[in-house]
Amino acid sequence: MTKVAIVTGGTRGIGEAISLALKKMGYVVAANYAGNDEKARAFSERTGIDSFRWDVGDHQACLDGCAAVADRLGSVDIVVNNAGITRDGVLAKMSFDDWNEVMRINLGGCFNMAKATFDGMRQRGWGRFVNIGSVNGQAGQYGQVNYAAAKSGIHGFTKALAQEGAKYGITVNAIAPGYVDTDMVAAVPAQVLEKIVAKIPVGRLGHAGEIARGVAFLCSEEAGFVTGSTMSINGGQHMY
Ligand code: NDP
Repeated sequence: MTKVAIVTGGTRGIGEAISLALKKMGYVVAANYAGNDEKARAFSERTGIDSFRWDVGDHQACLDGCAAVADRLGSVDIVVNNAGITRDGVLAKMSFDDWNEVMRINLGGCFNMAKATFDGMRQRGWGRFVNIGSVNGQAGQYGQVNYAAAKSGIHGFTKALAQEGAKYGITVNAIAPGYVDTDMVAAVPAQVLEKIVAKIPVGRLGHAGEIARGVAFLCSEEAGFVTGSTMSINGGQHMY
């Protein structure tokens, strides 16, 4: 049976590249998104990949959304938790809403998606989760206590769920991208970005396709012995 994959935030940026890479592997892909209907419609027309709108930070919406994907495309075997937002600011200026919204979507989304799909994978004895963390979750970043905490949480979540899934054929891994040329990074002020790029040993931003290739490997049959790991794809910006 052809395997079915959900990519959250899968209609643009890194998620779009992941959706395309998984389709190329022969998987049936469902691309989730939050609210940008125009981009999602254009993406679906361009790629032939179905898009599904729901907020990954909303627990019930995830349960309903995953059920809708399963109804239309079949049982969900692969989940790529890619949806993420930023609400940057130094602590003194960060509101509780900025903190909460980033935690709710970036970290809560991983929990909600796992609750909706893990049990089915367990029953079928096969599954793949790939959670998109960040170099800023590994190393921290000025003005991002919310984002760094949520992304760091994703790395802990990944290792814990990997331990639960291993005996059922479910692998759970994370990718920690460095700075990638998407809309999210386009929002960073030019002078700040210039300083960031100066600290990247390969001397440039990453491309979405470079992250997607890592995700594709972790979602493959061949990656069955890789679990609880974090793959850093960051141009050498952070090494440990
Ligand atoms: P973009 O801002 O370009 O795209 C974000 C995607 O996530 C969109 O499809 C958006 O949907 C979706 N999304 C946002 N909020 C929700 C939500 N509540 N529910 C469902 N979908 C949602 O992001 P990137 O492609 O740059 O980033 C993708 C992931 O990679 C994120 O987790 C990000 O934190 C991480 N990352 C990115 C880096 C970078 O340099 N770009 C570096 C390290 C990590 P819609 O189109 O409807 O708004």
